[in-house]
Amino acid sequence: MTYGKLTNKELDFVREIVGPDRVSTGESVLDLHGKDESFHRKRRPDAVVWPLNAEEISRILRMANEKRIPVTPWGAGTSLEGNSIPVQGGIVLDFQQMNHILQLMEKDLQVRVEPGVIYKELNQYLSRYGLFFPPDPGASATIGGMVGNNASGVRTVKYGATKDFVLNMVVVLPSGEIIQVGTKAAKSSSGYDLCRLFVGSEGTLGVVAEVILRLIGLPAEFMAAVVQFGALRQATDVVSQIMRSGLSPAALELLDIPTVQAVNRYKNLSLQEKPTLFIEYYGTSLAGLKEELAWVEEICTDNGSIRFDSGIGREERNRLWEARYQVRDSIGASNPGLSPLVIDTAVPISKYPDMVEWSQKVLEKTGLRGYAFGHAGSGNLHLEIPGTPEEKGQWQAVEEAADEIVGYALECGGTATGEHGVGIGKRKFMRREHGESLKLMKQIKDLLDPNGIMNPGKIFD
Ligand SMILES: Cc1cc2nc3c(=O)[nH]c(=O)nc-3n(C[C@H](O)[C@H](O)[C@H](O)COP(=O)(O)OP(=O)(O)OC[C@H]3O[C@@H](n4cnc5c(N)ncnc54)[C@H](O)[C@@H]3O)c2cc1C
Repeated sequence: MTYGKLTNKELDFVREIVGPDRVSTGESVLDLHGKDESFHRKRRPDAVVWPLNAEEISRILRMANEKRIPVTPWGAGTSLEGNSIPVQGGIVLDFQQMNHILQLMEKDLQVRVEPGVIYKELNQYLSRYGLFFPPDPGASATIGGMVGNNASGVRTVKYGATKDFVLNMVVVLPSGEIIQVGTKAAKSSSGYDLCRLFVGSEGTLGVVAEVILRLIGLPAEFMAAVVQFGALRQATDVVSQIMRSGLSPAALELLDIPTVQAVNRYKNLSLQEKPTLFIEYYGTSLAGLKEELAWVEEICTDNGSIRFDSGIGREERNRLWEARYQVRDSIGASNPGLSPLVIDTAVPISKYPDMVEWSQKVLEKTGLRGYAFGHAGSGNLHLEIPGTPEEKGQWQAVEEAADEIVGYALECGGTATGEHGVGIGKRKFMRREHGESLKLMKQIKDLLDPNGIMNPGKIFD
């Protein structure tokens, strides 16, 4: 694919659309929009534009499509696979100023938002009405970025991923056409599910200009537990049993010993340095939750847990979750100057113990250091292997280990990416994971974006 250059003529055209203050070619702005939170090589765009509405986006896309100028949508740039890096330059559309909560439909449990709304701020607003939007990637992500990557998080085990909450969207196609996809009804069997086509498409099919999200009522009570085991296998074996018990956890997270050590150091905690599960339940009464946790304790004890701490107050619980959310920072602080390769496999829950064990064997065999953690209840394993991408030989060993681990997940019927998206880093697994249906994905891409201007270089090699 050959792309057109963004010359002064096109820039002047964009300035006419959005005004001079919402276009930048400044060095620091381009630098900021040339990277995400991954190790992938930086690439600056030629210009950054802050649109305010679908009409402005439409006019920019129409021009870009005509001139074959790459356009990369940008939320907060917290992706971990290079998803938002504009690898072919061109225009970055930053939705920072499209950050309005447009309408709360309290009785329908729905909210209509612009893509630049930060999900944490949305949840702060919704909490006043006893509502929340459960998918929770931890980082300061935007709704547009969560839709782009089909993000999920600690509460996905109970409530689902972003795709399960998007009811309706306004999407601007690369041609500039503005369409509405989805429904406001809780269910629909009406034709192809275009909403889900755009969710997780990483900005490669069009730009999301507005989203209606389904919401959930905030739970009245919660109860958390920290469970520790003598061996990692015991901690992972228990996951499937908890999930089968009929008690549906609101969070079920795994931390291996190196991760617990990193978190202890970084957050000044004193967790026993053992394989650990963080578990949380939501319910209507503390008495009911106590009963549920007693049952979970029995399951854990039967599987050799050495500690089950469920008497955790609100403050301590918040401290633990903050520590969980800062696992990446903790690992970073324990490995100064190194960048981690992030593995994000997800497998059927019965395969989770084997998946984790396999990853540990690969680490042992290669002598690499790794940190295993993740949303265990969803069968999602994150393994961070710190290294130096610039040191070819060493980084190749890291990549080979990661390939072997992801390969095992695929053999188990799992996926190369449970929640971070394909971006640049996971493109190489797409054929193995999807086989012939990858061709159909490419045909869909070519149909909607025949000039390949939308976030080029992502998902497909
Ligand atoms: C510390 C840390 C922890 C994380 N934990 C998790 C986790 O638990 N679960 C998880 O899922 N992710 C996690 N992530 C990854 C990341 O935060 C999520 O993928 C998040 O959804 C990205 O949001 P963003 O606003 O930063 O989007 P960006 O990174 O800016 O963009 C993401 C993708 O969406 C596209 N996009 C953005 N806006 C639009 C739009 N309006 N229209 C169309 N496409 C658009 C972009 O082009 C890109 O392909 C974590 C990241 C960090 C740094």
